[in-house]
Amino acid sequence: MKIDEFRKEAYKMVDYICDYYENIENYPVKSQVKPREIFDVLPSKAPMHQEEMKQIMSDFDAQIMKGITHWQSPHFHAYFPANASFPSILAEMLTSAIGAQCMIWDTSPAAAELEEKVLEWLKDIMDLPSNWSGVIQDTASTATLCALLTAREKYSNFEINEKGFNHQEFRIYCSSETHSSIEKAVKIMGVGKKNVVKIPTNQWYAIDTELLEKEIQKDIENKKNPLSIIATLGTTGTTSIDDIDTLGKIAKKYGTWLHIDAAFGGSAMILPEFRKKIIGLELADSFVFNPHKWLFTNFDCSAYYVKDKESLIKTFSILPEYLKTNNRGLVNDYRDWGVPLGRRFRALKLWFVLRYFGIEKLRNKIRTHLQLAEIFKNLVIENQDFELLAPLTLNTICFRFKPVFLEDEDELNSLNEKVLNAINNKGKLYLSHTKIKGKYTLRMVIGQTNVEERHVLKAWEIIREECQEFFKY
Ligand SMILES: *Cc1c(COP(=O)(O)O)cnc(C)c1O
Repeated sequence: MKIDEFRKEAYKMVDYICDYYENIENYPVKSQVKPREIFDVLPSKAPMHQEEMKQIMSDFDAQIMKGITHWQSPHFHAYFPANASFPSILAEMLTSAIGAQCMIWDTSPAAAELEEKVLEWLKDIMDLPSNWSGVIQDTASTATLCALLTAREKYSNFEINEKGFNHQEFRIYCSSETHSSIEKAVKIMGVGKKNVVKIPTNQWYAIDTELLEKEIQKDIENKKNPLSIIATLGTTGTTSIDDIDTLGKIAKKYGTWLHIDAAFGGSAMILPEFRKKIIGLELADSFVFNPHKWLFTNFDCSAYYVKDKESLIKTFSILPEYLKTNNRGLVNDYRDWGVPLGRRFRALKLWFVLRYFGIEKLRNKIRTHLQLAEIFKNLVIENQDFELLAPLTLNTICFRFKPVFLEDEDELNSLNEKVLNAINNKGKLYLSHTKIKGKYTLRMVIGQTNVEERHVLKAWEIIREECQEFFKY
């Protein structure tokens, strides 16, 4: 492609993107395609000869778009959002145009220094402990793996990296509501899934800290090594928040690594009124949250903070001859701060977002989401045919359809499952589900960048209509 053609096509692409956003509410939020539907219409071989941009885009419209689920639609209320924003998209355009591979400082000094700076900014906005150091990871799953590997190395005197596993039995503690990425990390780090100790939760779905301490003591008596406690700030099921302060004290008492998984909920910590409720953060060893979930920064961008930076770097550093530079020790070579060698320039979009919005606007947006969640919660509570299944802590409402005379739990579960599928198959709205104490639970998450009150009220109307279809008195 010559530059003249690129210029023309790029202008067209921007128009395409703007049209897409202007019409986004008209698409079925959840893609309605059947398995293999996309695969089967695509040609079996790549083209031998050049094709026109026009043809490629027309096939994109006809063949690809229908298999897209519209995560940026304000009718998207499933899972947790992966919310983007226009300033972030602009930065991604630049990032992809520059196409830098930012593995070390030398390979693009600005990428390394901007990364350090924006993570300092975030630390300040969120009032995180000043002795933490930050690095951007691709996802929270990777950050948690880094935390556990660093803990493993620190507590084995960096011997497992050198000699391999020595059959020490490490134990990792978390609650039954913990995200699956913890178990995945434990499998990968060689500690074995059976050593993930899932502690039951209390009435707020937060880890029962007394039971946790008993488990740790029992393990010590049995000559097992408590390695790490994982606290969750905003669980995936119900956004419950573990008692960080108590967990921090327990971690200190038994010499374990406290990692905080705040993948989703962390963004709310930019609100001073929320931040002041989180006590004991300084007791943690590491912390991760995803600006790519609820801070208007395109996927992927995970902010990972660690107290003992030296141990992190010691765990991951490698120094083959071809990567030796004169600046070692003077600058951050982020390839030593995590698993991959190659790194995208992710700090740029965070910089654009923080500057374009400003702290105040970012706060207002999150506050709006919390208020909308409160409105939706009240609609649920005030309707006798619905039931709230967990306390509202952030912006995720856990509820179910429960017609007043229907008591049978199995029937309620299958009714709610049918309702959810029917809603999602119509494409006007996208919700997801979880199970809370055996109850099939609908989750309504309000965190999309452009979600407004009218979307939330519309969602409630659609849910109610669909429920009535399935259960008429
Ligand atoms: C989303 C989520 C994760 C996983 O995040 P990725 O960035 O996709 O790896 C981990 N923990 C919690 C609590 C989450 O909500």
